[in-house]
Amino acid sequence: MTFKAEYIWIDGTEPTAKLRSKTKILADSQRTATVADLPIWGFDGSSTNQAEGHASDRVLRPVASYPDPIRGGDDILVLCEVLDIDMTPHASNTRAALAEVAGRYAAQESIFGIEQEYTFFKGARPLGFPEGGFPAAQGGYYCGVGADEIFGRDVVEAHLDNCLKAGLGISGINAEVMPGQWEFQVGPLSPLEVSDQLWVARWLLYRTAEDFGVSATLDPKPVKGDWNGAGAHTNFSTKAMRERYDAIITACESLGEGSKPMDHVKNYGAGIDDRLTGLHETAPWNEYSYGVSDRGASVRIPWQVEKDGKGYIEDRRPNANVDPYVVTRLLVDTCCAALEKAGQV
Ligand code: ADP
Ligand code: MN
Ligand code: MN
Ligand code: MN
Repeated sequence: MTFKAEYIWIDGTEPTAKLRSKTKILADSQRTATVADLPIWGFDGSSTNQAEGHASDRVLRPVASYPDPIRGGDDILVLCEVLDIDMTPHASNTRAALAEVAGRYAAQESIFGIEQEYTFFKGARPLGFPEGGFPAAQGGYYCGVGADEIFGRDVVEAHLDNCLKAGLGISGINAEVMPGQWEFQVGPLSPLEVSDQLWVARWLLYRTAEDFGVSATLDPKPVKGDWNGAGAHTNFSTKAMRERYDAIITACESLGEGSKPMDHVKNYGAGIDDRLTGLHETAPWNEYSYGVSDRGASVRIPWQVEKDGKGYIEDRRPNANVDPYVVTRLLVDTCCAALEKAGQV
């Protein structure tokens, strides 16, 4: 008996990449294959902004596989990275750079939990927005209950079940501040694991919502004006940060040094200046700050972390549409270098 493998990859759409996938039928003998043994495959890069038409072939190399919760049985989801035909990483392949940096600082045992916010749309309006108007102002929707406050819970529950069946490290879900806006969290996991799994969880979100006739978007500011944007708060720690408070402070300080605030923010998702306005629980995009319990700071130290004298930090700046391979690479690169320099490893 053959089985189905859904090969998923990240395309070259700018400024924000999209997910693509297609189905490969595999032979019975490949059922027990490890990821490294799954076959490479190809695709038409000229249709995904990853090649010119006259030399359009690109390579899909499997990097992680998960049980397919939608098809079930022995079918699998296969996350791939994109290579050129000489088997080197394609320019759009941000995973390769993360693998290098994560490997360099592996001894510091970085882990991440990413809070993915997103918004459901039905047609041109967020789910729950009335035809030709606006719902009641924000205030009651966050973690709310009831048909007047909650829109899309059936989709959210189906997505959560699909993620868990796929074996993804989801740590929770909640309704967000704007109607039709939700969040799920992935992690804590290693840099590559959290990033791979976040991309697969996003794919499952779109795919699950498809069956409900609803679309989901990672647009960081889906409704202009006095409505919350959508972020991807990135919680981060190293072994030292999980053991001592001076390492927490070193990490926070390192993110404010020299060109670091800009190096980070400009890679934290397209349209970040629309979301990081200083309003709606954000810090202005061009001013770095950190503080305990401060949801108006760029980086928050949770109160429990100060109390315990150890734990993790939350970078609140990344947009919902951030590339997790990029944000985890930047945080590991900046903070782990500073911790190493300070001898806090
Ligand atoms: P918030 O209060 O900001 O909404 P959430 O509960 O949504 O926080 O998300 C916090 C995330 O931080 C979770 O994904 C959790 O797994 C993660 N996390 C917890 N401890 C650590 C740690 N030591 N290092 C990195 N991430 C962590
Ligand atoms: Mn959260
Ligand atoms: Mn949130
Ligand atoms: Mn948060």
